[in-house]
Amino acid sequence: MLGGILKKETCAACRFCCSFRRTSLWEAPVFTYENMLVLKDDPFFDGSDLTVYLEDYTYAKYDLSDKYKTDDPNEEVPCPYLGEKGCTLSEREKPWDCKIWPLRVMNKDGEIVVALTPTCPSINRLDFETVKEFVDTNLKKDIIEYANNHPYLIKEYRSDYPII
Ligand code: SF4
Ligand code: SF4
Repeated sequence: MLGGILKKETCAACRFCCSFRRTSLWEAPVFTYENMLVLKDDPFFDGSDLTVYLEDYTYAKYDLSDKYKTDDPNEEVPCPYLGEKGCTLSEREKPWDCKIWPLRVMNKDGEIVVALTPTCPSINRLDFETVKEFVDTNLKKDIIEYANNHPYLIKEYRSDYPII
């Protein structure tokens, strides 16, 4: 979604947001029911890997918590869909969480806000006002609308996430 300001090649070389430390497991992508409907026809998809089902299969997440091999808090476990050249999912299969990254929709004291993750090295090198203007003009309305229709995608607000 942020292709206008974040190049695909930059992400392909980085891939930071497709691996998770224990403390960032809350960031692991949520698969919507629509994602799962598309994925079930993928020959490489094994639904049994989606180990955390919530709200009667309305959405699901991979439980990566038992994949760590050490006690090192910096150890990262990759998303099962991370391949050599980046994400192996098609645009239709890819979770919305990943499509909007490094943006997040968050609940701040009852208000639904769009925020910028502080950990994406590339987007945070850009001028914040430039990012804000791009998101305000091109994305914000649709993002908020989608999140309101899929409220389980909304994360709790974290104070280090600048609001756009
Ligand atoms: S952290 Fe940022 S630059 Fe790196 S892959 Fe994710 S969105 Fe792209
Ligand atoms: S689904 Fe794709 S984009 Fe999302 S975390 Fe996994 S590998 Fe990365």
